[in-house]
Amino acid sequence: MRLCKRCNRVLRSGKSIERGYGLTCWHHHLNDLEQQFLKMQLTIDDILNMDEEERTDV
Ligand SMILES: [Zn+2]
Repeated sequence: MRLCKRCNRVLRSGKSIERGYGLTCWHHHLNDLEQQFLKMQLTIDDILNMDEEERTDV
């Protein structure tokens, strides 16, 4: 028996079991990934900006 990784409900459709998420939770999961990715991009930009500033100082 497969359970949704997000809400722990029993998954019934083959595609949901493949994903490990129910259809609604899958969309929530994709949104979460997108948000995380956007945050990571901002973090990488911050790090790159810090490096440039350090190089300018040296
Ligand atoms: Zn779910």
